[in-house]
Amino acid sequence: MERRKLYNVALVFLLVVTFLAIALQFFLLERTLILQPDNTDRVSVIADESVGGDSVAKLTTEDDSWLLECNIIASDYNWPFCELSISFFDLQQEGANKGVDLSYFSSVHIKARYLNKQHESIRFQLRNFSSKYSRVDSQSTWKYVGIEYWPGSTEAKKIPMRSLQVATWWIIEQKLAVEHTVPEVDNVMMLELATGNNVKPGKYVIELEYIKFVGKYFSNNQVLFFLIVLWAGSAVCFLLFNLKWSRQQLGKTKKKAEELRQLNQLLNVKTKELKDKAERDPLTGALNRAGIKKVFTKELEVLSVIFIDIDHFKSINDKYGHGVGDEILKNFSETISKNCRYTDFLARWGGEEFLLVCPNTSLTDAYDLAKALCQIIREKSWAKGIKLTSSFGVAQRGDESAWEFIERADKALYAAKARGRDQVVVSGYREGKITGR
Ligand code: GH3
Ligand code: MG
Ligand code: MG
Repeated sequence: MERRKLYNVALVFLLVVTFLAIALQFFLLERTLILQPDNTDRVSVIADESVGGDSVAKLTTEDDSWLLECNIIASDYNWPFCELSISFFDLQQEGANKGVDLSYFSSVHIKARYLNKQHESIRFQLRNFSSKYSRVDSQSTWKYVGIEYWPGSTEAKKIPMRSLQVATWWIIEQKLAVEHTVPEVDNVMMLELATGNNVKPGKYVIELEYIKFVGKYFSNNQVLFFLIVLWAGSAVCFLLFNLKWSRQQLGKTKKKAEELRQLNQLLNVKTKELKDKAERDPLTGALNRAGIKKVFTKELEVLSVIFIDIDHFKSINDKYGHGVGDEILKNFSETISKNCRYTDFLARWGGEEFLLVCPNTSLTDAYDLAKALCQIIREKSWAKGIKLTSSFGVAQRGDESAWEFIERADKALYAAKARGRDQVVVSGYREGKITGR
């Protein structure tokens, strides 16, 4: 998949997951715990009888609700009460200090009311067990986390869990260390619903339909943490992926650059070859007229040229054929190149006529060279044992144009032909006048 497309898909995915997580958190994923007669059997009832009072209480179940009938009777006991309690622990079982964790719930909805009174309060309390301050065999050491509220209408009372407080009298009674005085509901052993603290003597009937705990599966902080990890993780993945991609691109670019460099090199070689080809005679490999031109453009103080023309070459072609003629021309060019200095330039001027350009060479030296070449050619045995001679025209450049200078050498060559061939003729130059030799 194309990189940008992949990023877009990933971004859309992240946004969808984020929206889904938020929507689920706020509208779904609710968990509840309902305690009502048809699913709760470990319900009991007590009154202050158990602590020396005279009040009595009775529990019945009627039409899907509990009825707590209570007769509060004044006695020496200062805090008369009736109470319904629901146990979450089982003393018969091992680990009797294991209650239920209600810390996931954010609120509790209690549908309870006094059937025969209007302005009485209800105490609701959870009893949390912690090994830090509780003992299994003494229920009075189980932390009282609760609230006293006025049930009011027939609607269920919604109480935020954070409104529950630890009972002050219990803190004092237990001489509880300050660090343990915070409300805790992570190990609730039982739940209690009782008459209010200041209940007056008399008969009371409390009807309890249900107690419902409502909460999220995940806390808002957990969802936030998940989203932060999701986005930060994705950002890290994005950076790593980008880094890898950049490295790959860099590698590719380097490879491309190397390929281009090699191609360029190849082109340079080819260009040089083509340039060489354009400046060289294909048969003999000597320079052609275009190739020799640049030698004349150089500012050289001393420059001599030697025109060389094979004598009666036509008759060799006629007698042995063009192939042999070509071979001799090639061999002729090689022989001259081999016997002059490497600083000299040999050009094929046309047909069987060559021009040897000798930089930094005086007329005398050029003359000597021509004489030597004349002799070598004469003495050498060519293809098919053919014997050859050639004529030479030598000149040193004076205060004249390149073409005037070459023409002068050419004329010297013609003079050599005219004088009977197989010889060297020098064209002298003095103060604008040409002198022969
Ligand atoms: P001279 O001594 O007066 O120079 O006589 P020549 O026969 O050498 O001169 P001419 O100019 O009459 O003839 C030159 C011949 O060179 C004519 C042509 O057949 C031959 N020639 C020119 N170029 C080539 C070539 O590339 N290959 C071959 N085989 N022969 C060539
Ligand atoms: Mg000739
Ligand atoms: Mg010729």
